[in-house]
Amino acid sequence: MLPKNIKRILIKYSGEVLAGVNSFGIDPKVVDTISDEIISLTKLNIEIGIVFGGGNIFRGLSASEQGVDRVKGDYIGMLATVINALAIQEAVVRKGSKCRVMSAINMPDVAESMIIRDAINYLDNKEIVIFSAGVGRPFFSTDTGAALRAAEINADLVIKGTKVEGVYDKDPAKYKDAVLYHDLSYDTAIEKKLRVMDITAFSICQDNKIPIIVCNMTKSGNIKKILSGQKIGTLISGENNDK
Ligand code: UDP
Repeated sequence: MLPKNIKRILIKYSGEVLAGVNSFGIDPKVVDTISDEIISLTKLNIEIGIVFGGGNIFRGLSASEQGVDRVKGDYIGMLATVINALAIQEAVVRKGSKCRVMSAINMPDVAESMIIRDAINYLDNKEIVIFSAGVGRPFFSTDTGAALRAAEINADLVIKGTKVEGVYDKDPAKYKDAVLYHDLSYDTAIEKKLRVMDITAFSICQDNKIPIIVCNMTKSGNIKKILSGQKIGTLISGENNDK
């Protein structure tokens, strides 16, 4: 069950959502759709923190498999998330809403330093806050960054946006008979190694009792449906309700 009166959420968009129909880069149409959707949520008085992945531009681990130094590659990946954050901030601000980009790597010319007290003040003032550069260190993922920020801002819910409907028992891109889970416990998600989020991210959410909904974010309107109580995607929570 989702908590009643959800006030503050953390939305995690994987980089691939931003790439749209392409496999690389930022699709301006997607930026337009995402920025509209986020702005419409602020009109519902929802406080929104956002984390973007960087996989549409660069992933340290994949690059290291081709000989790139892992640490350097991860820093490139973190910078990719800042690029994504700035693209969305630009669109949101152009459309007349307030949006901050904070970065876990200090770069004062382009983003505010990640100071949690500032972030909470902005959220209290109903400004959209985009947390970029993951946790600011190599060997982590933006899923972990999202879980960490969700815990820090005391979010009621994490929504993880992907290109598919939720969590499946196997890769739906490869297997036509893949079955979508509607409800999962954190323990099952971890035990079954369902590769939708890494274990560190799950553990942070579990320890802090933050439910996660994994859903298709290429369809606009899904977040509003979730907040209005409709069952969309897969809910991962502390309840032992695997189905
Ligand atoms: N990354 C990192 N530390 C972090 C977050 C991200 O090193 O705290 C790097 C890592 O190389 C990762 C890349 O940034 O592959 C992009 O993030 P991620 O793969 O999580 O993006 P997504 O798959 O969600 O698009």
